[in-house]
Amino acid sequence: MPEIIKDYDKNIIRIKKGDRALIFGQSRLSDGNMSFARGGKAEVIENRRGFFRRYDLELDNLAAAGLAHGNRIEEVSDEYRGCGAFGLEDAIPDVDGLVSDRPGLILAVTTADCLPVFAYDNNLTTAGIAHAGWKGAAAGIQSRLIESMMKFSGSKARDIHVHIGAGIKPCCYDVDNSRIEMFPPAHLDSIFIHRNGKLYLDLCSAVSLSLIEKGLPQSNITISGECSFCGGKYPSFRRMGAEFITDIAFITIQDNY
Ligand SMILES: [Zn+2]
Repeated sequence: MPEIIKDYDKNIIRIKKGDRALIFGQSRLSDGNMSFARGGKAEVIENRRGFFRRYDLELDNLAAAGLAHGNRIEEVSDEYRGCGAFGLEDAIPDVDGLVSDRPGLILAVTTADCLPVFAYDNNLTTAGIAHAGWKGAAAGIQSRLIESMMKFSGSKARDIHVHIGAGIKPCCYDVDNSRIEMFPPAHLDSIFIHRNGKLYLDLCSAVSLSLIEKGLPQSNITISGECSFCGGKYPSFRRMGAEFITDIAFITIQDNY
């Protein structure tokens, strides 16, 4: 395995510090459906195994959030290993974000237009991931993720890095006016765009602005340029309609990787 990869546009990161590595990634449309709610179990397991094999990671070590479009974060210990890896029934319920300091565990969420938010600290002691759609972002899941990481690892906000992966972007995310009142008044001018008589939401800005408010330096935040709707490389609920599938996004700390 190469030592360090930072390809923010492809949503692939591998960073090393000594024997410790921090890796995150996001599957693509071509990797197939990753959601047990959207396809047969055997096929999803095969797709997931194939995707993680490319990173030399085992699906058995995965812990997946059950997803509820809320702002709850679970602190994940070793006993969650395998939860939600092979079926929806034992995914960690009612949470949209996961945080852990356990090496070997793979934290995962599935998305299709919603944003995967990857977080880690400078010393690679703690990793976190969140699923942020408009409801979760408006409810502040990104801030809760950072608070959990700070509590868990003692990290300072300035030591935490966040990457916002592929999801629906303001080029395509038209919303109705009722969304405006869900977001902090101070951010409205930056996150809502009026264009050709329609209203568009910039979910990435909504997430990054609240992270900056939380104390993260802007230089610690990277954003994928990929729009899931018009880019065609990632699953999109809005584009695919009733036939939609999901990707899987993960982050993991690995020792002796
Ligand atoms: Zn777009």
